Amino acid sequence: MSEIRKAPHDTIFEQGPVNPYGKFFTGTSYLTMLSENDDVFHAPIGNVTFEPGTRTHWHVHSGGQILLVLAGEGFVQFEGEAPRKIRKGDVVRIPPEVKHWHGAGASTWMTHISIEPNVPNNRCTWLEAVSDEDYAKAVA
Ligand code: MN
Repeated sequence: MSEIRKAPHDTIFEQGPVNPYGKFFTGTSYLTMLSENDDVFHAPIGNVTFEPGTRTHWHVHSGGQILLVLAGEGFVQFEGEAPRKIRKGDVVRIPPEVKHWHGAGASTWMTHISIEPNVPNNRCTWLEAVSDEDYAKAVA
C-alpha cells in the first residue's frame, strides 16, 4: 500500500485515499468520488490527484471523458499527437474511442476532475503503460 502524501496545492475537494484503480496507473494517485454514477445522471464524477511522475496507462473511454484541471501542471496525450501541457483552469474534452493518457509532470503535482458521460455506454479499456521513455519525451 502506498504511503499517503498531501499535494502541495489546494485540491479544492478532498484529496482522498490512494486510487483503487492504481494498477492502471504508473506512480501514486488519489481518488475521491464526487458524484457516483446512477440512472439519473449517467455520469460518474471523480477528483483525481497525481503525484509527480504519475500518469495513467494508455486507455480508451468508449463514451468520452471531460477533464477539468483544478490545480498544478500535467500532461495529456492523444495517440499520434504531441503531448499537451495542462494546468489549473484547463478543460480537456477527450472524444469517444480516442486512445490517450493523462498525468502529472515529472516534478509537478496535478489535480483534475474527471467526468465520464454516457454511462452505461461508456466503458474504459485499459491498455499498456506509458513507458518511462515515452513519458520522459512527453514532459521534456
Ligand atoms: Mn482518460
